[in-house]
Amino acid sequence: MSLLTLKGVRTNYGPIEALRGVDVEVNQGEIVTLIGANGAGKSTLLMTICGQPRPSAGTITYEGRVINDLPPHETAKLGIAQVPEGRRIFPRMTVFENLQLGATLADPQHFETDLAYCLDLFPILKQRRDQRAGTLSGGEQQMLAISRALMGRPRLLLLDEPSLGLAPLIIRRIFDVIADLNRTRGMTILLVEQNAYHALKLAHRAYVLQQGLVVMQGGGKELLANPEVRAAYLEGG
Ligand code: ATP
Repeated sequence: MSLLTLKGVRTNYGPIEALRGVDVEVNQGEIVTLIGANGAGKSTLLMTICGQPRPSAGTITYEGRVINDLPPHETAKLGIAQVPEGRRIFPRMTVFENLQLGATLADPQHFETDLAYCLDLFPILKQRRDQRAGTLSGGEQQMLAISRALMGRPRLLLLDEPSLGLAPLIIRRIFDVIADLNRTRGMTILLVEQNAYHALKLAHRAYVLQQGLVVMQGGGKELLANPEVRAAYLEGG
């Protein structure tokens, strides 16, 4: 069953056409990956789904409802959570306070259970619970950013480059958690990654974005085996 459908979506920044008519489908319970070079429009796609910037054409349908005109706080209320590139945690607040903020939209009765779940997922956050988030390492901040999104009990999790700038061991942990969230909680995930190898291995389906257009799509493992994809995105991967 389709959870999210983009049809002919165009997004401009002034004269720059970042998305030029994109069709993407995310089904309930899937991990879908978007890969593509720098500037292909991947981040713009995630941000457009969330409502900032707005698409100039096309339709975005989520749970059967057209959401083109909804601002980010409304799409968040519908259960769409984004973990943006660069994480954007609140550096002066503690780990715990960041998690509390993430839970603002969720039913307070789930708070303790969800907190325990996140701290189990990333035990290092338990040790860092009362530390200011700005003092965490890059990997810990990414774990916190993902946990903060989870505290809102999203039905669609959008992850923008979660492995960016992290050490290989941490990257592994992040990807394991993504797979686990999907397997054990049935979480639907749209994942943008430069790290095409890990992301395609994990994905049920994937899209390749190039200059604002989808140029290829298929099963994650199918694209992983595709010679064109390998040559363009997996050199040294
Ligand atoms: P990256 O991996 O570098 O983040 P990306 O695939 O996510 O790349 P986008 O960041 O979506 O690509 O950028 C798509 C195009 O839109 C690029 O040409 C970029 O320069 C342009 N762009 C992105 N954000 C803005 C902005 N705020 N104002 C103007 N142009 C922008």
